[in-house]
Amino acid sequence: MCKRGFVVMVLLVWTLILGAESIQAATFKTKNFTVSTSDPRAAEQLANRAEFLRKKLAVFWLGKELPNWAKPCKIHIKLGDDLLPGGSTSFTFNKGEVYGWDMEVQGSRDRLYDSVLPHEITHMILASHFRVPLPRWADEGAATFTEHQSERNKYQQQLYKALKTRHGIPLDRLFVMEEYPQDPMPLYAHGFSVVEFLIRQRGPHYFVSFVEACIEKEKDWNTLVYEFYGYTTLEKLQNDWVEWVENGTPEFVGTNMIAGNGTNAPKLTVQSSNLLENSTFNESVQVVSQPRIQPSSTPVDWSTTHVNSASEN
Ligand SMILES: [Zn+2]
Repeated sequence: MCKRGFVVMVLLVWTLILGAESIQAATFKTKNFTVSTSDPRAAEQLANRAEFLRKKLAVFWLGKELPNWAKPCKIHIKLGDDLLPGGSTSFTFNKGEVYGWDMEVQGSRDRLYDSVLPHEITHMILASHFRVPLPRWADEGAATFTEHQSERNKYQQQLYKALKTRHGIPLDRLFVMEEYPQDPMPLYAHGFSVVEFLIRQRGPHYFVSFVEACIEKEKDWNTLVYEFYGYTTLEKLQNDWVEWVENGTPEFVGTNMIAGNGTNAPKLTVQSSNLLENSTFNESVQVVSQPRIQPSSTPVDWSTTHVNSASEN
């Protein structure tokens, strides 16, 4: 190798080392999060944002802040304006504890700020509170409820599309879904709408108490929706929810605790009152399968997954 070739080689190796260092440098730590991304400034901003959301959303859902986690959550972020907002978080439930937080998210900086991080951090707050897996509809519904209105509109459009084509998921099926269906979008869209319907009536803390009762008590949904929301059966809740969606998700006068879309949402122009898939409703739907009720004595790996691939049209 000639001398000039050697110099070029040395420069190349040096550039590679510097490059590797700059990738490693794009990590920022706070008490509860270690954020890695390609841009050091974004890593710091998003780590601080995650910490802020952890406080704010814990107060929103639980009425109090969470203690710091024993080990911070690793967040790997892919930044890009052209990336669909979404991600997943995995963690482990074991003997009434939850740990091993690991999050992978992607999207533009704005959507990471106002939709993806709130969504994933809500999953973590609820997991920290309950320490057992939640029913999927409630978990995804609550997480989606915290997203930016532009994202929520996409889910609402998905729901309208499903109902208009008589592909609405009846609540006796939605409430017992334990895993993500092959296409998870309908689960998000229905879960979000039902959660919004309940939260607009009695607020987020009450909703968390309802979910708590679902997890801890061996009651069926008919009993729980009556005890907490006054619906005599799950089917009655379903009918009122569908009617609310049909009417453009209006406010609950006198009982709404959080301002919502109200009359801004479009009304469904469908004549038939039967917008759901099957006509026979399972009258005795159990809340959760038996193994969920008690904290597991062996580790349960749990993962949330989320990519909003819906368009607004
Ligand atoms: Zn989710």
